[in-house]
Amino acid sequence: MSGSVFIGLGSNLNHPIQQVLAAIEQIKALPQVTIENTSSLYQTEPMGPQDQPRYINAALEVSTSLKPIELLHALQAIETQQGRTREGERWGARTLDLDILLFAEQVSNDPLLTLPHPGLALRNFVLYPLYEIDKQLNIPSLGPIKQLIEQLGEPCPAMIISKNLEKRSPVC
Ligand code: ATP
Ligand code: MG
Ligand code: MG
Repeated sequence: MSGSVFIGLGSNLNHPIQQVLAAIEQIKALPQVTIENTSSLYQTEPMGPQDQPRYINAALEVSTSLKPIELLHALQAIETQQGRTREGERWGARTLDLDILLFAEQVSNDPLLTLPHPGLALRNFVLYPLYEIDKQLNIPSLGPIKQLIEQLGEPCPAMIISKNLEKRSPVC
């Protein structure tokens, strides 16, 4: 399948930077997935329960011959391998969260795989990494990324590891 696919990464437990970097390597090793672009790593405030550590977030642009549900299952296997459990509160602390932010032009309301990701337009820790990768990105059913950032009106999270150790057209 052609068209850009974007994956959101997040971690706030057990060495979050290492978790995110390890997950990027795992995704790189998936046979039918090629990483096209990687955002910087951002440090972000927790969403939901506030009594948890801050997060490290990033986004990847990939190309893949997998179907969306196959990609989700591959990402869930990586989450499990990196110790993700789901017994706590919703949006509680986790070693690794891998969400499909958008999958080409696909739009779906299926709760098992909602596309674009239902939280995309509401989360600065998703919008800014996406914008860093593709400033012209147009999100199916939502609109241009720049407009979504303006509508949300939240500051850019702190960039803690910039790609190539240099800010690329800084957005913050
Ligand atoms: P949120 O989805 O609000 O970011 P979360 O990532 O903590 O919360 P998870 O526990 O990782 O939630 O996932 C719960 C379920 O969400 C998964 O079992 C999956 O089937 C479903 N889901 C729906 N749409 C997506 C998507 N675009 N990417 C990843 N999971 C999705
Ligand atoms: Mg999530
Ligand atoms: Mg998730």
